[in-house]
Amino acid sequence: MNERRILGVRLLCWVIWLIRVIRVIRVMGVMGVMGVMGLLLSSPVFAAPSPTSLRIEELTWTELSDRIAAGSTTVLVPIGGTEQNGPHMVLGKHNVRVNALALQIAKSLGNAMVAPVLAYVPEGSIEPPTAHMRFTGTISIPESAFEALLESTARSFKRHGFRDVVFLGDHGDYQKSLDRVAARLTRDWSGRAGSAGCRVHSLSDFYRAATDGHLQLLLARGFSKAEIGSHAGLADTALTLAIDSTLVRQDQLARAAQAGRREGVLGDPRRASAALGQLGVDHIVETSVAAIRERTR
Ligand SMILES: [Zn+2]
Repeated sequence: MNERRILGVRLLCWVIWLIRVIRVIRVMGVMGVMGVMGLLLSSPVFAAPSPTSLRIEELTWTELSDRIAAGSTTVLVPIGGTEQNGPHMVLGKHNVRVNALALQIAKSLGNAMVAPVLAYVPEGSIEPPTAHMRFTGTISIPESAFEALLESTARSFKRHGFRDVVFLGDHGDYQKSLDRVAARLTRDWSGRAGSAGCRVHSLSDFYRAATDGHLQLLLARGFSKAEIGSHAGLADTALTLAIDSTLVRQDQLARAAQAGRREGVLGDPRRASAALGQLGVDHIVETSVAAIRERTR
């Protein structure tokens, strides 16, 4: 069909449609037509879908307020960290991972929301640099600043009506800070008249499942402790692959295994796979959901 014929057919369709509209207006009147259109537009088919996100930062304040009023009274605070993870994993490993895990846990719980990730955490002395700070890109803040950040975050959520604030920490060294802040706030709030009704939980079960729990699953499959490792080794790399494979540089795995501690790697990541990581992910989500349900009953 040439372009002139296509244009002709389109014009004819428009004329037929216009005649039909004029006939409908004659029968129903302008107000009648507008009423029908209004009804159609307000029907569930045309109405904007209510937001289903479990991430606080993706909702408006009124949407979040409605969600809390409707029973979503638990808030998960994902805590990551920005640190070296060998030459084969990106600096934001903890942040991406804990964010994804928190969402999976919230979905299973059914009454929980997910706060924005805390990506700035204590990583040791800056001058002179210690631990991960010896490697480019690691960010460290003082422990006192970190605990103040956690405390104000929990206080904010209590103010907005959440009843349970749950800290999920993906990194090892700051677990004691989460414990301290959770214990302090829960003790403070339970002791004061009028301020009861909110608890803060440091979910050590989450971190234990990600480390010891995953370790046991891998040992049972024949991997050695030396290969599984503790930082950027097989277990750590597998978990990351299961969450987002673009965070891992496959062509750097051999270098990571060879350089070891010198380049920030404890373990051997060469045989890491998403399937081995998924064992850990399932275990972390299952364990955390059960622990949160138990603590928030
Ligand atoms: Zn870490």
